[in-house]
Amino acid sequence: MRKPIIAGNWKMFKTAAEAASFAKEVSGKAEVEGVESVICAPFTALPALTEALQGTSIQVGAQNFHWEENGAFTGEISGAMLQELGVKYVIIGHSERRAYFAETDETVNKKTLAAFQYDLTPIVCVGEKLEEREAGQTKEVCKEQTVAALKGLSVEQAAQVVIAYEPIWAIGTGKSSTAEDANEVIAYIRELVAEAFDAQTAQSIRIQYGGSVKPNNVKEYMGQSDIDGALVGGASLQADSYIQLVEGA
Ligand code: 13P
Repeated sequence: MRKPIIAGNWKMFKTAAEAASFAKEVSGKAEVEGVESVICAPFTALPALTEALQGTSIQVGAQNFHWEENGAFTGEISGAMLQELGVKYVIIGHSERRAYFAETDETVNKKTLAAFQYDLTPIVCVGEKLEEREAGQTKEVCKEQTVAALKGLSVEQAAQVVIAYEPIWAIGTGKSSTAEDANEVIAYIRELVAEAFDAQTAQSIRIQYGGSVKPNNVKEYMGQSDIDGALVGGASLQADSYIQLVEGA
């Protein structure tokens, strides 16, 4: 059985003080037996968040990192720096990073491989643009991104990866994919994992849906056979709504 995982992606929202107060509000509440609850915060909020969530089952994630151990990479953050803070997850290849910060399939792969050196669970994002969907290229795009991201991982590592299928046209638009459509693409991504690794790995790997997930639609996604959770932007920013998302999983 795959454990459902709800991950909040705060994007560029919340100061350290705001993160600490959010943590107080969700402690003991966004903690549901059998559901993994993760908050992916901006770098500057990570120390406050890990400290405030100590002793809870809520995990902390980052939204990016650099694959090199250290070096002359102005403005970057390494896996060791995240690990030192008690960060357990890292989002890799979010479409906003691919679109605005030149993230490519190659850098996504380097980061996915590197995450394991620092005990970080990668949440690898894949998903098509609106034009690609309209041109019938959804599966092709997801295949290219998924296969590239997982290249070179061992079977054991691949089984631990979390993939987030986020159709770009559904992000922050209120236009969510139907649960059935999302499930079809996610089942296809699972087949790709089976081809690249094996059937057991495909059954173990967790694949989330992301894109305008809210407390009022999370259950529809969770009711699908292949959807193992959600990566949530906007609706993860308020404590009450985040709690409802975790409860809805
Ligand atoms: P929204 O939930 O705001 O649509 O954002 C989705 C997302 O990009 C999560 O990574």
